[in-house]
Amino acid sequence: MYSENFDYFRPSTVEETIEILQNNEGAQILAGGHSLLPAMKLRLTSTSALVDIARIEALKGIKSDQGRFEIGAMTTHAEIARSQLLRDGCAVMADTAANIGDVQVRNRGTIGGSLAHGDPAADFPTVLLALSAVIHARGPEWSREIASGDFCTDMFTTALGPAEVLTGVSVPELVAGQGAVYLKHHHPASRYAVVGVAAVVTLSDGVISQARVAVGGVSAFPVRCTEVEMVLVGKNPSAEVYKEAAGHVPSAIRAPIGDFYASPEFRLHLAEVMTQRALEAAAGKAGA
Ligand code: FAD
Repeated sequence: MYSENFDYFRPSTVEETIEILQNNEGAQILAGGHSLLPAMKLRLTSTSALVDIARIEALKGIKSDQGRFEIGAMTTHAEIARSQLLRDGCAVMADTAANIGDVQVRNRGTIGGSLAHGDPAADFPTVLLALSAVIHARGPEWSREIASGDFCTDMFTTALGPAEVLTGVSVPELVAGQGAVYLKHHHPASRYAVVGVAAVVTLSDGVISQARVAVGGVSAFPVRCTEVEMVLVGKNPSAEVYKEAAGHVPSAIRAPIGDFYASPEFRLHLAEVMTQRALEAAAGKAGA
């Protein structure tokens, strides 16, 4: 099927992009096009204009800055998967990217597009929530930082305004005693997450001093499971503790989703089992 007609713009700066968005009601940013173009062709969405940001160099690349990694919105999944900086300092980001879709998707899809699209089955929103990442956005007269926990607000809905550009993501470098993993039960056709669990565990003198757990794919947007985290803090890492903590996952997810592939009950069960495994793996990486 063909999309409806639209105008096409190719700005070379973020400022120009914002101006075009302001002057063209219904215009949408085009990044890698891997979600937007199929949706347009299927006529699930239409747009008055596409604003192609592929040539904006300022939105590309990965830098290390004072204990954090700054990742430009137009950085592709393939670039994140290959990044030695991330492999050394926050390997869960590179591992996550390496398991997104297939080669074509990873070569074209961007971290900014993945986040802005707000797909409940996407991987990065869950991982960034567990990592306490910050999302950078620019609007007509402002720049702002959005905490990962405030970014996804509903299914395919984010905190970004109509004339706002997601410019990048800031993730912390993991320190000694910290381990992070993302486990995904992927859909066999697309590799999107049916359930994805991200866990970050910090050990101090052999005791769990901090934990962050996020579950994606099971509800409209990723959920941080604070009840799970509270069970872990102050305990010695053990299989029993991970099991007890993971037992709180189903109650943390209030409106589980279901489809032909996986019922809400199956998703909740998977989320619990995978949380247990993710905690064990993250604690192992932290040195347990
Ligand atoms: P686009 O499709 O260009 O844009 C998506 C939306 O975000 C649009 O509404 C656009 O206007 C908006 N947008 C894009 N960039 C910005 C920005 N900088 N600021 C504001 N708004 C912006 N993802 C996974 O997480 N895991 C998977 O396993 C997976 N498998 C996939 C398999 C297939 C076959 C396909 C087609 C996609 C898959 N994806 C998966 C999604 C993929 O990872 C892309 O990241 C995702 O499609 C969106 O990124 P994009 O750069 O292509 O964005």
